[in-house]
Amino acid sequence: MQPPDHATDLTLPDRIADASPARRTALVEDLVRWTYARLLGEATAWCDRLAPAEAGDRIAYLVPPGRIHVAVQFGVWARGAVAVPLAVSHPLPELEHVLDDAGPRVVVIDPTLPQAPRLTASARARGAAVVTIPIPPPTVHHPRTDPLPTRPRPTDPALLVYTSGTTGRPKGVLTTHGNLTARITVLTAAWGWTASDRILHTLPLHHIHGLVNALACALWSGAACEFGTGAPAATWDRLASGEITLFMAVPTVYGRLIRAWQEAPEPVRRRWSEGVAGLRLMVSGSAALPARIFGQWREITGHTLLERYGTTEIGMAFSNPLAGERRPGHVGPPLPGVEARIVDDRGHPVPPGGGGEIEVRGPQVFGAYWNRPGDTAAAFRDGWFRTGDEGCVADGGYLRILGRRSVDIVNTGGYRVSALEVEEVYRTHPAVRDVAVVGVPHREWGEQLHALWVPEDGRRRPPGVELRAWGKERLAPYKVPHRFRAAPTLPRSTMNKVLKAEVRRMFME
Ligand code: AMP
Repeated sequence: MQPPDHATDLTLPDRIADASPARRTALVEDLVRWTYARLLGEATAWCDRLAPAEAGDRIAYLVPPGRIHVAVQFGVWARGAVAVPLAVSHPLPELEHVLDDAGPRVVVIDPTLPQAPRLTASARARGAAVVTIPIPPPTVHHPRTDPLPTRPRPTDPALLVYTSGTTGRPKGVLTTHGNLTARITVLTAAWGWTASDRILHTLPLHHIHGLVNALACALWSGAACEFGTGAPAATWDRLASGEITLFMAVPTVYGRLIRAWQEAPEPVRRRWSEGVAGLRLMVSGSAALPARIFGQWREITGHTLLERYGTTEIGMAFSNPLAGERRPGHVGPPLPGVEARIVDDRGHPVPPGGGGEIEVRGPQVFGAYWNRPGDTAAAFRDGWFRTGDEGCVADGGYLRILGRRSVDIVNTGGYRVSALEVEEVYRTHPAVRDVAVVGVPHREWGEQLHALWVPEDGRRRPPGVELRAWGKERLAPYKVPHRFRAAPTLPRSTMNKVLKAEVRRMFME
C-alpha cells in the first residue's frame, strides 16, 4: 500500500477551497450537477444563513443525503461550527436525544420530512434557532470561488456523530478536522482515489461510512459523488452505466443486490453483470461480510469485494489491500499510520494468533465522547482506544473479527465462542438465508447459544433438532446453538446492524 500523503495541517474545507478543480463535477443528484465552484458558493450561502451560530457552536441538521446536505455541512464548517448530522430514518425521540445531548445553537430542517413539524417545535423548545431549507432551493447566481469565510484549524472540532451504541443511549463522538484529514488521507491513498473517480453514494450521511469513506474521500480527491436512492434495480442500473468507478455498501445491501439480480430476467442480469465489470473498486464494511455474499458477488460481477474494519471513534483501521489478496472473513492488515494490538482482559498483548480485544491508536482516533468524561476515560487504556471488538491475527497479519465483546463473544461452559463464526457456518446451510446467534443466560452453562434464523424462500424448514445435528458435523459441540427459532427477518438498526440485544430479549421472554 502507498503511504498516505501527510498533509495533516490541511483540512477538508481548505482542500476543496484551494485545490479542487472548480469546473469539475463535485456532486450529482437526480439530473442536477454541481461543480466544485457551485458547492463552495452554496456552502458560503449556507454559512450566511446559519448566522446565529458562532465558532465552536454545534449546528444540527436533518436533511436527506444529497447536495443540500453537503452544502449545509460545509456551511457549518465555514462558520467554524461543529456539524451534527441527524439521521433522517430516526424517529423523534432519537432525534430529541441528540438535541438534548449536543445542545445545538441552530437546527437546520428539511420541511418535507415527516419529523419536521415536531422536530421544529422540539428544537425551539430547547432554545435553538430553526433554519428551514427553502423549497425549492434558491439559485446561487454568483458562485464564489474565493476562500470560504472561515478556515478551521486541524485542532478545531469538526463533527459530532452519534454512535449506534450497543448499550446505553447513543454517545456523541467528537472528531477534529485533523482527525478527519488523517482518516481521509489514509483511505484515499490506500484505495487509490483520483479525480477521475465517480462514486455511487447510497449510504446515510449521519455515519462515517457515508460521510468520510465515501463523500469526504471523493471531495478530497476532486472526484465526483453521485447520490442514488439505494433502490436495488436503480442501483444496478447506475452501477452498470459505465460512468461509476467506485461503490461502497454494508453487507446487507450487497445481499439485497444479489437477490434483485437473481430475480431479474436473463437479459437484464447479463446487462448488469457486464456493466459493473468497469468499476475499479467495490468495498464492504460496517458489519461482517458473510463468506456467502463475498462468493456470490464474485460469481455475479467478477468483483472481489474489499472488506475493511473501523468504527466511528477510530475511522478505518484495517483494510484488505487494493492490490493483493482480499481474504474472505478477514479485514486485512492495519492501514498505514494506524497502530493496532490485540490484548487480553488485563490489557497485555496476546501471543501471535491468539484472540483478544482490538485496541487502536493514531492520528485518526477521536479525542472524546461529547460531555462524557467518564465514558471517554473508560474507552482508553494507556492511550489506546479499546474498540470493544475481539479479533485475532492470522497469516500475513490479516485480522479476523470475532465480534463485539458485549454481544458476540459468548461464554458457554467456560468456552468463549464467536457468534460470528457460528453464524458463518449456518449461512452455508441451504435452507438458511440469514441467522443471528446470541448467548442467553443459563444457570448451568453461564450462557447458552440460541439462534434466530431466516428461512430461504421455497425451501423445507428443518426443525431445530435437524439444524443442531447438521451443526454438530461442522462445529465443536459447544458451538452448536441449543435453540433455533425462525423469523421472517432479523431485527436491524437503521445502519443495518443486527440488534443482538433485541434477539437476546426475544429468547429470554
Ligand atoms: P460504527 O461505529 O457504527 O461504524 O460501528 C463500528 C462497529 O461495526 C465495529 O465496532 C464492529 O463491531 C462493526 N464492524 C465494522 N466493520 C466490520 C467488519 N468488517 N467486520 C465485522 N464488524 C465490523
